[in-house]
Amino acid sequence: MLSFRNITGLSILLFFIALLGVLFAEGSYIWLILPCLFWLVMTAIGSFHISWNYHLHATHRSANKNSRQVAITFDDGPDPTNTPKILDILKNHRASASFFCIGKRMQEYPEILKRIQREGHTLGNHTYTHSVNMGFFGSQRIFSELKRTNTVAQEILGKHLQWYRPAFGVTNPAIKKALEQTDLRAVGWSIRSYDTLPLSEAFLYKRITKRIQGGDIILLHDTGEKTVAVLERLLLFLQQNGWEAVSVDTLLKEETND
Ligand SMILES: [Zn+2]
Repeated sequence: MLSFRNITGLSILLFFIALLGVLFAEGSYIWLILPCLFWLVMTAIGSFHISWNYHLHATHRSANKNSRQVAITFDDGPDPTNTPKILDILKNHRASASFFCIGKRMQEYPEILKRIQREGHTLGNHTYTHSVNMGFFGSQRIFSELKRTNTVAQEILGKHLQWYRPAFGVTNPAIKKALEQTDLRAVGWSIRSYDTLPLSEAFLYKRITKRIQGGDIILLHDTGEKTVAVLERLLLFLQQNGWEAVSVDTLLKEETND
């Protein structure tokens, strides 16, 4: 398995083999650099690819590929302009979704947060600040980000959040340690839409719909107008093809996090 632990162990082993080669077989010192480079490259890629489960275990999809259900998820809200539009569309299509909200934004837009809950969608923790430096924070600081967000949700909604999606999908040993101090369950995605990049609506729609399989978790962001338009078309596609859009709670109801 491509885990931080396994790759670190393998890199150390390769380093000592290279060291023996240098000491006893007149090998070049360059051989000592290669295991270090291997470790660095694997760890850099693993930290940015939550689907690898490199640092921590996250759920990326339902294990049931025969399911006709998919979970649409929105990160980075609540957004005062786009989240209400998204909620309207979901309501019109009688669809459920999941919103991984930023704690600070929850405090700014408590009424939108309450509406998300009232309309039956799942809410999750997406850190308090969503700082671009999150990958460099120590475990205590990350723990306080997670705890503060859960406290804000508890104060506004009277609800304990159970799900966590890492900001930027970045994971590392400090995030793993912080997460272990909470009862949050990490959730990733199996389809990344790239809706925050300057790509056309048509491209995003095609990218998602051509990949859809039963049990998928789709990553979108409720912060952009383009996503609102893509959602409308995506829900129509799901309906026409006999798919059901459900919350992460419903999709993963029977599954354990082991
Ligand atoms: Zn985010």
